[in-house]
Amino acid sequence: MKIGILGLGLIGGSLGFDLKSQGHDVLGVSRRESTCKKAMEIGSVDQAATELSLLSAAEVVFICTPIGLIVPQVEQLISHLPKTSIITDVGSVKTPIVQGISHLWENFVGGHPMAGNTDIGIDAAQRNLFVDRPYVITPTESTPSHAISILEEIVCSLGSIIYHCSPEKHDRAVSWISHLPVMVSASLVATCLSESDPEIFQLAQKFASSGFRDTSRVGAGNPELGVMMAQYNRQALINSLYQYRHHLDEFIDMIETENWDLLTEKLKINQQNRPSFL
Ligand code: NAP
Repeated sequence: MKIGILGLGLIGGSLGFDLKSQGHDVLGVSRRESTCKKAMEIGSVDQAATELSLLSAAEVVFICTPIGLIVPQVEQLISHLPKTSIITDVGSVKTPIVQGISHLWENFVGGHPMAGNTDIGIDAAQRNLFVDRPYVITPTESTPSHAISILEEIVCSLGSIIYHCSPEKHDRAVSWISHLPVMVSASLVATCLSESDPEIFQLAQKFASSGFRDTSRVGAGNPELGVMMAQYNRQALINSLYQYRHHLDEFIDMIETENWDLLTEKLKINQQNRPSFL
């Protein structure tokens, strides 16, 4: 199959590696010439260019640009594609993207691979990034079933675990487990940076180990992605953050009042329930 990828960064470049290894003919388009050259050099795509016209032969196109560019890029892309081409995207937010593209292109299926890391660009692309990871597909009532089936087939070949839900439910769910953690982790790092005693600050930097690595990772990643999660999933994220603030206040209260029994109970509940998310 001829598969196009628009946006050769971490996700687009990684998809290219895996699709190429499945025997697909992968056509890549990116903004910078240097990225196109690199993507071909490392074997993430068969052909690459900065012009959207390269994708005119693609049967399926994955849009892998930053969230805010997905709809505008599709608006420019569609004049180059035959009506039969299937367009999908990998954006971390779904409602505004699905609403923005569904009326432009019939064969559009929203998607979101729940895989990634904090690095960006083609240099961060890696093989097998999607293996054993959830991949959420967000069709609507009007999404053609053959377009869903073809996307499912490709996603299955990546080794991902496929889930389906509405764009709205996707956005509410990822707000809890992806977008809230980014903001909580970001505020954790910001709080550590606020230590005003230089000696304590330096000691904290020296002592930081696995616990700080785990809890600060998602809050110190690509700022552009963090801002776009907040902009495009604003309401769900605000709801999650208010809930988080409520729970944080409860924890402060338990410690101030030395309510160790309640704190123990809360921590036990967390210990028992965390595995159900992972
Ligand atoms: P990224 O590494 O920054 O890659 C985005 C790429 O898009 C850049 O390398 C850039 O290529 C290209 N680009 C930017 N503007 C463009 C334009 N106007 N035309 C064509 N290409 C353009 O970001 P990413 O992490 O792969 O994220 C891409 C998408 O995946 C986002 O929508 C994000 O929500 C989604 N996603 C990310 C993760 C994650 O953990 N990172 C996980 C799941 C989904 P140049 O180098 O050519 O400028």
